[in-house]
Amino acid sequence: MSSDIITMADRFIAATYKRFPIVLTRGEGCTLWDSEGKEYIDFVAGIAVCNLGHAHPRVVKALSSQAATLFHVSNLYYTVPQVELASWLVENSFADRVFFCNSGAEANEAAIKLARRYFQERGESRRYGIIAMDLSFHGRTMATLSATGQAKIKKGYDPVLQGFDFTPLNDIEALRNKLGPSTCAVMIEPIQGEGGIRCAEPGYLKAVRRLCDETGTLLIFDEIQTGIGRTGKLFAYEHFGIEPDIMTLAKALANGLPIGAMLAKENIATAFGPGSHASTFGGTPVVTAASLEVLKVISEEKIIEHCRDIGVYFKEKLLWLKNRHESVEEVRGLGLLLGMKLKVEGEPIVMKCLKRGFLINCIQGNILRFVPPLIIDKDKIDRLVAYLDEVL
Ligand SMILES: *Cc1c(COP(=O)(O)O)cnc(C)c1O
Repeated sequence: MSSDIITMADRFIAATYKRFPIVLTRGEGCTLWDSEGKEYIDFVAGIAVCNLGHAHPRVVKALSSQAATLFHVSNLYYTVPQVELASWLVENSFADRVFFCNSGAEANEAAIKLARRYFQERGESRRYGIIAMDLSFHGRTMATLSATGQAKIKKGYDPVLQGFDFTPLNDIEALRNKLGPSTCAVMIEPIQGEGGIRCAEPGYLKAVRRLCDETGTLLIFDEIQTGIGRTGKLFAYEHFGIEPDIMTLAKALANGLPIGAMLAKENIATAFGPGSHASTFGGTPVVTAASLEVLKVISEEKIIEHCRDIGVYFKEKLLWLKNRHESVEEVRGLGLLLGMKLKVEGEPIVMKCLKRGFLINCIQGNILRFVPPLIIDKDKIDRLVAYLDEVL
């Protein structure tokens, strides 16, 4: 069965993904099964998406009961789950208003559009430049790949949009030198996910905030990968004692249903008036009802506290591996957004793990990324670490 599916996929689906040769058919908690019945422990979680694991009963129930009640009506009308989700996000963040869309890239598109429009509404129409970081990842649409600091993401798509510039993460002088009268916003991931689990230093982020305040520049945090408890706080900015002006969310926000959100402070958010931006599916009842339930489970069941504790445990185990193996260069990350940089290629290790029943992921060629569901337990971590010890 799996070989037929793989043959058909290779024939009918656009060849944009390099996939592992398994067909996943079922999931529960941190466990997945393929079409042959083989079991895997999931340290990928749909790339930091399924924070509550697979088939969480409360999320399944919220989703199916909303699906049976009201599926979709468009943003021509008010709907209850969308309002409830927006109000939850506002009450639990720095922000005052939320725009809903369907993906991370779309959330960043909204952030970029809002930043430009904010200044154009104030008559500062030449202030449209965005400064992003080297090795950043903000998405695959034209604007968000233009904001992405990796040549491989832009290859073949020239000309990219103008008005984007790049600077090294954690170098405040470089940012100060880039920032000019045409800069409208600085865009940062508090921890670069795709770029290799590279952490912004607390002092750097504080200095960026100060620089933005001094120059009236907007600070955009892309928390698409770091948000919703992943780093051991609801949002990563909470670690640093500062707040952005605009924040984007997606990935884990609905535990696997497509959703994106752009959150902003009141004086900025109001630059979006009726007709200025829109999305057909943005904030549709089914997805927002599921998302609201995800957030309730996370707060009621103390998932973030668990993530913080188990993340420390996992990181210690990875550091133990580093001490034992010459081939491990560095362990980094926060909470359950962890990376292990190797001095060797990561892909063969990922393949071995797959065969042994562990799903892990490799980025930038030699960095193993561990982003399991936040509900992962010590036993599963121990099993992976014991196997990595053997393989390394
Ligand atoms: C995944 C990701 C995106 C893009 O999200 P999509 O839903 O794939 O469009 C943008 N920024 C960051 C930090 C991400 O991790």
